[in-house]
Amino acid sequence: MNSVVTPGSGLQTGASPHAIVIGSGFGGLAAAIRLSVRGYRVTVLEKLDAPGGRAYVFRQDGFTFDAGPTIITAPFLLDELWTLCGRKFSDDVDLRAMKPFFRLRFDDGDTFDYTGDPEQMRAEIRRIAPDDLNGYEQFLEASATAYRLGYEQMGDMPFTKITDMLKVIPEMLKMQGLRSLHSLVRAHVKSPKLQTVLSFHPLLIGGNPYSVTAVYALISHLEQKHGVHSAMGGTGALVDAMVSLMQSQGAVLRCNSEVDEILVERGEAQGVRLASGEVLHADVVVSNADAAWTYRHLIKPEHRKHWTDRKIERSSFSSGLFVWYFGTDKRYEDVPQHSVLLGPRYKGLLDDIFKKHHLADDFSLYLHRPTELDPSLAPEGCDTFYVLAPVPHLESGTDWEAHAEPFRLAIQKRLEETVLPGFSEHVKTSLVMTPLDFQSRLLAFRGCAFSFEPKLTQSAWFRPHNVSEDVKGLYLVGAGTHPGAGIPGVITSAKVLDQVIPHAHSYA
Ligand SMILES: Cc1cc2nc3c(=O)[nH]c(=O)nc-3n(C[C@H](O)[C@H](O)[C@H](O)COP(=O)(O)OP(=O)(O)OC[C@H]3O[C@@H](n4cnc5c(N)ncnc54)[C@H](O)[C@@H]3O)c2cc1C
Repeated sequence: MNSVVTPGSGLQTGASPHAIVIGSGFGGLAAAIRLSVRGYRVTVLEKLDAPGGRAYVFRQDGFTFDAGPTIITAPFLLDELWTLCGRKFSDDVDLRAMKPFFRLRFDDGDTFDYTGDPEQMRAEIRRIAPDDLNGYEQFLEASATAYRLGYEQMGDMPFTKITDMLKVIPEMLKMQGLRSLHSLVRAHVKSPKLQTVLSFHPLLIGGNPYSVTAVYALISHLEQKHGVHSAMGGTGALVDAMVSLMQSQGAVLRCNSEVDEILVERGEAQGVRLASGEVLHADVVVSNADAAWTYRHLIKPEHRKHWTDRKIERSSFSSGLFVWYFGTDKRYEDVPQHSVLLGPRYKGLLDDIFKKHHLADDFSLYLHRPTELDPSLAPEGCDTFYVLAPVPHLESGTDWEAHAEPFRLAIQKRLEETVLPGFSEHVKTSLVMTPLDFQSRLLAFRGCAFSFEPKLTQSAWFRPHNVSEDVKGLYLVGAGTHPGAGIPGVITSAKVLDQVIPHAHSYA
């Protein structure tokens, strides 16, 4: 093995213990902030040339594209990070509440504005499903119960012991949390349109509404209680602010630094070796890289009794995404910031994506137009867009090199026929990401967008633990560990560290 060195040292006597964080996604940045506050000397190692991970920012021809997350929920989690550092979040980031949260468009052209205003929600339901008003109120109660259990009680619980899981099972049974979210929704409302409106949310974090547990109903309550927000300057402004916050605590970000191996001796993490061959020593290693990739590719098999190659390969993974980023030389004022354009099929399409791993000819789309809120993200008089379609991960065998352009053209046709007639003549810049790019750029196992599929048998104690089951001194944050994908999930995963990582003083 190469000799182990510590960056920026000779460490003076009494110097802080060193924590390496692999990856600068939201989970990695939140972990770096928390570890710095706890007294660690933190180095964040990022493979790409800039931080953010799925929230990387592409800039092309004067347009600014947030690569991934656009919808910010649970802003109190961000307040909490800033407060930990003695600062105020709103001094650094300008978050704006969205009205509506989303506009859903059904295949027949009917629309539904999903908002945080209870009266407007009732008015929309009265219009599309008048017989379901009472059922909707009951669903809201179930959603509040799911929030108390799934978010307040289980969200930042470490789930390192089976007894942690056993403790929550009675509550889960009481709320019938073992059934799927869609089945919970169907028990309350009869209209297929309203069933879709109340169940599509897990798709935004890679879950199939027909497989995720009913606990995911918590998302509806979370949105109603704390709103849906976007950041002025785009989500990239939030990434920049988190990097500055982390640096203000002394943490160091090194981009273009891909980790090739987590070095383990006698079952304990010693540090990492970069693709360049450089070796860095650490007292603790926190991986924000894809959890499956971390075990499968960064740790030698002889150090893995639990997360063996076989176990990883037999796990199920979330959907992939096809994302088309484009800029137009005109503005489309009647397109809201967040739209969901549903296709002709719901369950059938989800079966194709999640179960059959088959790339279908039809799709449902999420269309993002951030320039509704912030015109500075495009040249004057222009619009920035991205449109995404959930697709199967790479196990589908889809040849994305060949399929990307036909698939993009099919999406373009669909947008032309629905909310953006004639827009293709106005497209001035364009960029596409397929599951292949998720694999090669972000080292996402099977090119999936949200890591392990969030189904019951892969959640909480069953998900890769925040404290590695295999390697002492290795911790996991991010979408593939507990509690799961999405900005609130990955920021909460870093919060779990506070309960499981020794305080830096304990090294003295
Ligand atoms: C298109 C899209 C839209 C989304 N929309 C939303 C949304 O609106 N709201 C929401 O809440 N969530 C959304 N999500 C989900 C959310 O973005 C993710 O769950 C979350 O950002 C993942 O954060 P993470 O901490 O797991 O790290 P990631 O963002 O996955 O970052 C991991 C980082 O680790 C780096 N890395 C990997 N391997 C190595 C290595 N070996 N060495 C060094 N670095 C490495 C990668 O380059 C990457 O930068 C979206 C996701 C996508 C893809």
